[in-house]
Amino acid sequence: MKIFRLLVSLACVMAFLPAGCTLHRAAPAPAPSLPPAPVNTKPTIALAPSGPLPLGQAPVVSRAGELRGIWLHDPRGVDWPKVMAELHAARLNAIFVKFSTGGAAYYRSDVLPGSFYNGRDEAALCLAAARRYGIQVHAWRVCFQMKDAPAESQQRAVREGRVQLDRSGQPLRPSYHVPVLCPSHDWNRAMEVRAAAELAAKYPFDGVHLDYLRWIDTDPCCCANCRKRFCRDTHSTVASWPRDVMKGGRLAPLYLQWREQILTRLVGEMAAAIRRAGPRTAVSAAVWPELASVRRDRGQNWKAWVDAGYVDFICPMNYATDPTMFAKRLAEERALVNGRVPIYAGIGAYKLSMGNQLRPLVAAAQRGGANGWVLFSYDDQFRTRFLPYLRD
Ligand SMILES: [Zn+2]
Repeated sequence: MKIFRLLVSLACVMAFLPAGCTLHRAAPAPAPSLPPAPVNTKPTIALAPSGPLPLGQAPVVSRAGELRGIWLHDPRGVDWPKVMAELHAARLNAIFVKFSTGGAAYYRSDVLPGSFYNGRDEAALCLAAARRYGIQVHAWRVCFQMKDAPAESQQRAVREGRVQLDRSGQPLRPSYHVPVLCPSHDWNRAMEVRAAAELAAKYPFDGVHLDYLRWIDTDPCCCANCRKRFCRDTHSTVASWPRDVMKGGRLAPLYLQWREQILTRLVGEMAAAIRRAGPRTAVSAAVWPELASVRRDRGQNWKAWVDAGYVDFICPMNYATDPTMFAKRLAEERALVNGRVPIYAGIGAYKLSMGNQLRPLVAAAQRGGANGWVLFSYDDQFRTRFLPYLRD
C-alpha cells in the first residue's frame, strides 16, 4: 500500500510538470550524465572532553516533557555513538541533522544531483545510535539552496533560468555562496516535493524539518520565469519590470501576495508528500521570527502553514542574545500559533560569547511557554563552551 501511495504521489507530481521538463527518476544507479559524487574530505568531528561546569555557575534546568534539541550541519564523518551519548548526558532529546539541500543529499539519493554516499550510510548510523538513547532524529532539509551541488548542476540551473536573480541578472548567492533555486519554477518545486518525500521514504526519521522556505531577497527575484508566472497567475500587465512590483510600485501588494502564496502552496504539497511517504513522520519548519516582517521581506507566512495544518511544529529562529527580546518574539509567536502546534524556540548559541548566557535564554523559553528549545548548532565551540551547562 505504501509503495502504491508513493507511485500515485509521483504520478501527481509528474502531471504538473510543464512540457519538456523531466525529473531525475528513481533508478538503482546514478544517471550517466551526472558527475561522480564529490569525495568527502571533511575531517571527523573531534570529540575531546568538553570540560566541567565552571565553579559557581548554574546549569540549564530541564523541564519534563519539553523537547531539547540541537541542529547539526554536516553529517559526514560524524561519530554517531559518541555524539548521541554526549547529547544524552546533556539531557538533549532531539537532533536536527542536515541530510539534504537544494542540490545535494548526504545519503544515496534518487532525486538530487549531488549524492554524498561513499559506502557509509550516515542516516542509518545516526538513527541506530539515536535510538539507543531515545533521541529523536529530524532530517533537516535546506530547501532551494544549492549547497554542495555539483558545479555542473549549479551551472545547468543557471543556464536553464531556474535560479533567483538580482536586478542586474546575476544569481543571488547569499547564505552558502551558491545559486538558489527559484520557487516560481515548476521543476524546482516538483524537485523540492520529491526530495522532501524521499527523506521520509528512505529512513524512519522522526520528522522532516524544512528550512529556507523563503525567498532569498527582499527585492523581487528578477528571473524571466517570475515575470512570466506573475503576469499569468495574477492576470497582470507589467509595464516596467521589476519596478512595478518593487516597494512602492503599483503592483507591489499583489506581487507580495503572489510570492507568499507560491511558498504556502509548496509547503502544503511537501507536507502531504512527506506524510504519504511516512505517515508517522512529523513535518516541521524552521521559520523567521516577527511574522509581519518575514511575510513582507521573504514571502514566508508560517502562520498560514500552521493554520492549514501543514506543519506539526515550528522552530522559530529567535536568535536574540538578549533574553527580553527573545521573550518578546516568543510571546508574539505563541499568540499567533494559539496552541495549534508546539513551538520549539530556536536559540542562537553561536551568537553567545559565554556559556553562562545560555541559561537565561532557556529559562525565557520555558517561562514564555515554549514546548521546547533547539540550539544552533552542534560544533566544537558548542561542545567546549555550552555543553558543560547542559549537564544537570
Ligand atoms: Zn524567479
